[in-house]
Amino acid sequence: MSESDQYAVLGNPVAHSRSPRIHALFALQCEQSMQYRAICVEPGMFPAVVRDFMQRQGKGVNVTVPFKQEAFELADVLTERAQRAGAVNTLLWSNDGRLLGDNTDGTGLLRDLQRLQIALKNRRILLLGAGGAARGILSPLLQAEPTSLTVVNRNIDKAHQLQQEMADLGELQVATYEGVQGAFDLIINATSASLHGIMPALPEGLLASGAAAYDLMYADRPTAFMQWATDQGCTLRSDGLGMLVEQAAESFYLWRHCRPATAPVLEQLRREVAATTDST
Ligand code: NDP
Repeated sequence: MSESDQYAVLGNPVAHSRSPRIHALFALQCEQSMQYRAICVEPGMFPAVVRDFMQRQGKGVNVTVPFKQEAFELADVLTERAQRAGAVNTLLWSNDGRLLGDNTDGTGLLRDLQRLQIALKNRRILLLGAGGAARGILSPLLQAEPTSLTVVNRNIDKAHQLQQEMADLGELQVATYEGVQGAFDLIINATSASLHGIMPALPEGLLASGAAAYDLMYADRPTAFMQWATDQGCTLRSDGLGMLVEQAAESFYLWRHCRPATAPVLEQLRREVAATTDST
């Protein structure tokens, strides 16, 4: 066994994950001696795998689908943003030896929107989806002081639940896909529909002049959502590869106390994603 500090991303499936590559690039850039690998965890085994990994030189793990909720329950102590999200994507040892759960998804999205010069303050934002990813990004979006923030979801109860949970941070509008009205400066797709090449049916005319469209999913070609935005005349579109790199950078910082430059890593990843076909 190497003496390097050990890190991993835990999920199922996880073989497609870009996280080992991203963290290898960060480690090289920041001259950190560490190893990071992907571990596929069988259902029911998540707590045992985490405890075992962390007790053998493990310094931290990232958590992906479908274990973010289990990681939330497993953590001894939670950051405020993890508590808000109700989900954990990063685990590490706290200073007093407890297992600390954090969620870096929201920070990752906000940093990437900043890179793209997409403003949030005084903007009308429409968020598609009310799943785990939407939970992680809602509180930072509300804290950015948009004019309005509207959530649409197929299962409307989940959207109402989020509305209640976030009420102390600001007002959240809730609508159905058929019923959503108005013009928006930014539409964010936090559904998993693009994974299946599907764009949820939305009324025409929701994108205001100069609006931006952001899909949390990334791919080697425009996603179904990005294609829809193009068809609506939107010129400022992005997929979520930048968010993936930014949320990873935030985890890396928590573990190594060193903030990697993300732009060269994103450029490298973009080239690598373009060169492959399996890019979910
Ligand atoms: P969840 O399974 O928790 O939630 C899925 C969401 O998608 C739900 O709101 C669900 O609606 C909705 N949905 C699924 N299929 C459809 C459809 N055909 N039409 C309309 N809505 C649909 O997934 P996550 O929230 O964890 O992930 C969502 C996406 O975000 C994924 O593509 C994931 O890859 C991406 N992601 C990207 C990250 C990044 O760093 N770039 C980080 C985290 C996630 P309902 O509740 O009604 O079923």
